[in-house]
Amino acid sequence: QAKSKGKGLFAVFEQSIANATLQRMELEVSLRQALERQEFFLVFQPIVAISSGEIRGFEALLRWQHPTHGLISPTVFIPIAEEMGIISVLDRWVLKNACQQLHQWRVQHPELDLTMSVNLSTANFIFANLVETVTETLDRTQVAGKNLKLEITESILMKDPEATARVLKQLKDCGVEILLDDFGTGHSSLSYLHRLPLEGLKIDKSFVHEAQYSPQSMEIIKTIVSLAQGLKLKLIAEGIETDAQRRLLLGLGCDLGQGYLWWKPMTSRKASNALQHRGIAQQPRVSEFSKRL
Ligand code: C2E
Ligand code: MG
Ligand code: MG
Ligand code: MG
Repeated sequence: QAKSKGKGLFAVFEQSIANATLQRMELEVSLRQALERQEFFLVFQPIVAISSGEIRGFEALLRWQHPTHGLISPTVFIPIAEEMGIISVLDRWVLKNACQQLHQWRVQHPELDLTMSVNLSTANFIFANLVETVTETLDRTQVAGKNLKLEITESILMKDPEATARVLKQLKDCGVEILLDDFGTGHSSLSYLHRLPLEGLKIDKSFVHEAQYSPQSMEIIKTIVSLAQGLKLKLIAEGIETDAQRRLLLGLGCDLGQGYLWWKPMTSRKASNALQHRGIAQQPRVSEFSKRL
């Protein structure tokens, strides 16, 4: 009796692994086809001046509209694309489309001097002809290097700091600025920070969200702020959702931010609308549609 019961449980367990494997394999197959099937699109989240709410630029964020599973989060498919070795193809697509969009917005709103931030996977950062790809894309889309920001995570510093420094220097020579994303969550080697040509640090949203309740998170934010001030780096706070968080970050000397308080990531059409209002959110406008994004 007990034996057959145990066997039954084991079978269920095996089945769930099989299902997970199958699901993963299916996802890999459809991910490989997604680009040519035009299932990817970009959403754009404004980066604003924390004091006034004025839009200074955007972060481009990738979305995958799967034919049967619906909208899939980049936190799910980016790691898979990295493991499959196709992430540089995706990042190139994002770079090109984000720069095209930036060019259009800059032509429409020359007075705003908008920038575009693009996330780059660090999975094969150094080997993917990054510098050539970036210069070619800037050329083709008529975007000046200084209006493009590339976001990378600190994990790159652990992998190959020397090669990273070389690549970042080359990008800097093209005018492209580099931001360290999710700062404080990875293992950064502080000793490399001042040797890299960085423009700024992005304070991870986890610290922003916990700051009011956790003295530790508050201390981490204060440390990042003083580190940035000491090294003359810009600061962008991610994930600002409440006015209390906004005031806190402003008080600590953080100039730029992004978060649901102002805008969620939105389609290019909605972002264009936002820009019509001279880049200032009248009030947090979060539609049902953009909530899903
Ligand atoms: P990230 O680069 O740190 O992007 C910020 C994430 O925080 C975005 O999630 C954004 O939607 C979310 N966010 C912004 N404001 C708020 C807020 O007020 N509250 C909360 N709870 N969240 C907020 P998203 O779009 O799901 O992207 C997740 C991550 O996926 C990104 O984190 C980035 O690491 C990666 N990713 C997204 N697009 C790309 C891409 O084109 N290429 C690569 N390599 N990675 C990407
Ligand atoms: Mg980012
Ligand atoms: Mg981030
Ligand atoms: Mg993040």
